[in-house]
Amino acid sequence: MSVSVTQQRHFIGGEFVDSTSGETMEVLNPATGEVIAEVARGTAEDVERAVDAAKKAWSEWQDKTPKDRMELLLKLADIIDENAEELARLESLNVGKPWWVAVDEPGVMSDNLRFFAGAARNLEGKAAAEYAEGYTSMIRREPLGIVAGICPWNYPLFMAMWKIGPALAAGNVQIIKPAEQTPLTMLRFAELAQDVIPPGVLQVVTGDGIPVGDGLVRHPDIRLVSLTGDTATGKLIAANAAQTVKRVHLELGGKAPMVVLDDADPATVAEAVKIGGYFNSGQDCTASSRILVSERIYDDVLSETVKAVESLTVGDPATDDDIGMGPVISAEQQERVLGFLERASDAKATILTGGEAVGDRGFFVKPTIVTDVGQDAEIVQNEVFGPVVTMQSYASDEAAIEMANGVRYGLAASVFSENLGRAMKVAAKLDFGTVWVNEHLFPLASEMPHGGFKESGYGKDMSIYSMEEYTRIKHVCVKLA
Ligand code: NAD
Repeated sequence: MSVSVTQQRHFIGGEFVDSTSGETMEVLNPATGEVIAEVARGTAEDVERAVDAAKKAWSEWQDKTPKDRMELLLKLADIIDENAEELARLESLNVGKPWWVAVDEPGVMSDNLRFFAGAARNLEGKAAAEYAEGYTSMIRREPLGIVAGICPWNYPLFMAMWKIGPALAAGNVQIIKPAEQTPLTMLRFAELAQDVIPPGVLQVVTGDGIPVGDGLVRHPDIRLVSLTGDTATGKLIAANAAQTVKRVHLELGGKAPMVVLDDADPATVAEAVKIGGYFNSGQDCTASSRILVSERIYDDVLSETVKAVESLTVGDPATDDDIGMGPVISAEQQERVLGFLERASDAKATILTGGEAVGDRGFFVKPTIVTDVGQDAEIVQNEVFGPVVTMQSYASDEAAIEMANGVRYGLAASVFSENLGRAMKVAAKLDFGTVWVNEHLFPLASEMPHGGFKESGYGKDMSIYSMEEYTRIKHVCVKLA
């Protein structure tokens, strides 16, 4: 199935409209470097238009019942399922995702929306009774009003859905700003859903971080900004949102350790690294980018992993559905990843496999393993966000825990061991929002929360916990008689 890009303008007030400046920005296919679309380059006035439309929508939408909200979410889920192949192909084209990665996303997204359709009807406050003599109290769990979702480029529609589900279920109206590089699936989804979304309830404004994202963050009528993005962007947004004392939800970067205990099976670990470290070209906030291996089995794990990683095929996903790994998102990202590797080499790290660009067009980096790195090395401490994994050895479980926790991030981690009790002991000590045991990256379940500790952010996506981000608690106290 080939895809064509049909909608390239903002979705504001139920209509597709050009930017007030008339300007557009290019969207590239990262596998070829070719321009595949020109979308509206948003302005501060476009943000204002969207907020005006959201206010109008809110005046009616706030009176809808949970059942009405559920029905909208169920329709949106159906639209994803009915157009799953097209949306997956478009995402593959715009992000360079291999088909086996893109094809699974729509089903997970529609399941997520259906989970929140149910959650819409299960919202509650905890207490309702007489706590002061002569008065009765009740707790209302209310939507916030107008909320904004600012999305990253690595899982464009996926991350938008993580925001849309709880926001609409809770009764908010929402403005989504896709990443500059990858706005196409969100625009196509809006086009497919145009007839079922009440005007202004869900809108899309495309454009740069400044002025569009920043305009949403600073707008006094927006009550929450949810960002999935880089830690540096999160810090800036938290500071700027403070000017209007706006609620902020931050899903930021990661540097996930995979802790391999001395009783783990090297071949199993190698296969897990092949997926966990290189899925989506390593452009995953939970990618297993640091492999910490007991010195007792280090050599075996390393040789098995090099074999597994070298078996990954790299290429343009559009030419072959069986490609193992695609490009990174942009020339800038390719340069950034290669820069990390160059500096690591200069600091006497060993690039065991990969370590260079590949292909005569597009933005490809070979799957890379780096060894001989200390805990303080830049490549161990900072998120590379590319197909690069470091491997370090350790002497004891305690040392492994210290190394795993010894970064500023706290999003996800994993432990590999044949001994579940031992693995559980380590899992309990890991300072990360998700810890997998004998697995890394999967599965994602809509019922389970996703969110980081430390500089990976705060607040949760998915699960009933995310409804807390998008609702507020009000006490109503009634004088009896
Ligand atoms: P980014 O921070 O560069 O951009 C994210 C979004 O923020 C974009 O839409 C961008 O336009 C917008 N933005 C940039 N500057 C802004 C500003 N001053 N005000 C408001 N908005 C602004 O991130 P990215 O490069 O698109 O995505 C990659 C990052 O996302 C990685 O660090 C990755 O770890 C992180 N990520 C985290 C999770 C998670 O769940 N924690 C999931 C996916 C990606």
